[in-house]
Amino acid sequence: MSASPYPLERRWGEENDSAHSVALPMPLRSRQSEGHPPIPLHPNPNGIPPVPQGSDQDLWVTDELLFDYQRCSRRAFLDVYGDADRRDPPSDYLKKLRQDSLAHQLDVLGEGQVHRPHYPHQDWQAGAIATLELMQQGVDRITKGVVVIQHEPGIWLVSCPDLLVKQSGVSAFGDWYYVPVDVRLGKRPKLDYQITAAFHAYVLAQVQNAWSAESWLMLRQRGAYAVYVAEMVPRMRDILNECVDMLRLQQEPEVFIAHNRCDLCHWFSHCYELAQQDDHLSLLPGVTPNRYHYLRNLNLLSLDALAVTHPRLLEYLPGFGSHVAYRLVQQARATLSNAALPRPLMPEEAPRPLLHPHELPTSPVELYFDIEAAPEQNLVYLHGVLVVDRHAQSEVFYPFLASDPDDEAAVWYEFLDLVTQFPAAPVYHFCPFEVQTVRRLGQKFNSSSQVVEALIERFVDLHERVTRVAVLPVESYALKAIARWLGFNWRDADANGAQSIFWYAEWRRTGDRTYLDTILRYNEDDCRATYHVKEWLTQFLQENPYPAFEVSKER
Ligand code: SF4
Repeated sequence: MSASPYPLERRWGEENDSAHSVALPMPLRSRQSEGHPPIPLHPNPNGIPPVPQGSDQDLWVTDELLFDYQRCSRRAFLDVYGDADRRDPPSDYLKKLRQDSLAHQLDVLGEGQVHRPHYPHQDWQAGAIATLELMQQGVDRITKGVVVIQHEPGIWLVSCPDLLVKQSGVSAFGDWYYVPVDVRLGKRPKLDYQITAAFHAYVLAQVQNAWSAESWLMLRQRGAYAVYVAEMVPRMRDILNECVDMLRLQQEPEVFIAHNRCDLCHWFSHCYELAQQDDHLSLLPGVTPNRYHYLRNLNLLSLDALAVTHPRLLEYLPGFGSHVAYRLVQQARATLSNAALPRPLMPEEAPRPLLHPHELPTSPVELYFDIEAAPEQNLVYLHGVLVVDRHAQSEVFYPFLASDPDDEAAVWYEFLDLVTQFPAAPVYHFCPFEVQTVRRLGQKFNSSSQVVEALIERFVDLHERVTRVAVLPVESYALKAIARWLGFNWRDADANGAQSIFWYAEWRRTGDRTYLDTILRYNEDDCRATYHVKEWLTQFLQENPYPAFEVSKER
């Protein structure tokens, strides 16, 4: 058996590990809730409520399940009722996120003593008994504790906060009570974090017969954040009740692919396959859950139906407007015909060219630029530039790679040296990230603002140009989807930005240069793909200089 490449995960994850001797470096000055507790408690006459006596047939609603439900109700449903064999294995990037999360948890725990209850993996009943023992003993801090209450017959609520911290006050245990703490990687105290924190406080209050006024989030960049329990518990209860109803009634939510939430989901392959089988409209760019709701009310659930719809039928719906309505219909037509179409001409619009030549310049020398960065570390580790010299008929790729994070400034200056050698060359890139990053690095490294702004003046965002002028038969307007549709292939088919971050971390961990070579190959392919899209767009504009839209005669 090979050793796990994730040592932090191993340190944290061993179920039979003894208590870690670590301290929480935050001043947790939490208050006991007085006056207006969110919900009255019904103390057990014997003090501590009885330990749960559930069975495998019961529904165990964990904080993790509630968290997933908020992002996608279908995910929560599949986690309970789905075929586990159809789950995707975690991607390398997801493993890295977990590793980062565990490292953050260990940072938060620090060096003081923390107790850990012993129980078999996911045996909530045993976990609840072991945690209750520690709470009754009055230990200062408990990690990986389990707190369980009955929600209704056959349905249990399972709270596993990252930490339970003892405070002075009155509870069923004596003159102390516990406050839950969740450790999160996210930058902001997102609502789903806060709802989950309120869930912990709610479950814990029933067991210890005392409310804490706050439930805490420890955010990696922002530090401690207090979630006010009285404010958040009523909202949490509404969501919890919806979640429990869906699970109790076994109502399977419809597939809806939204890449920002689905891409890291372990049911993605399964859901995507279903969506493709059905030509589900969520695969059409521009169809959001809200717009889908209105399309369904109009029984416009197929590409064929949408393609022959008059946009006037859609434009007054909430969340549409005439631009969205015309574009959606054009999008359905492009997808059905598997052809690129010019953007739609609006009814009141006088025909004018899709783009002016200066907006997509063709020059003797053109630069194609792509950055690789690890935003969580605020680090740019690669500036890749493909220099296309049309006279010399050459294409040369220049990678400026910080193999050590300390080299970030040096490679920034090397990059500036190269691009200033071609002062008249447009710099093509895809999406605003490069502009934002160049501006930020200019400030970070005190570069001349004249130099930086002159460089940014030469930037051409190809994503903006493509989406402004063309409607393509793609599921997203990401570089990969567009370039692939145009026939461009990456040498590493599975490479992506998240994978690149993982490879960089692996290079730092192992010193294996293969990871750096793979990053360079991926970045060069991104630059070449941008060049490919630019060449195609130039041609497309010659063939389709004006917007166009034909009103269907069928509706
Ligand atoms: S892939 Fe998307 S739709 Fe399917 S369960 Fe996951 S988040 Fe929900």
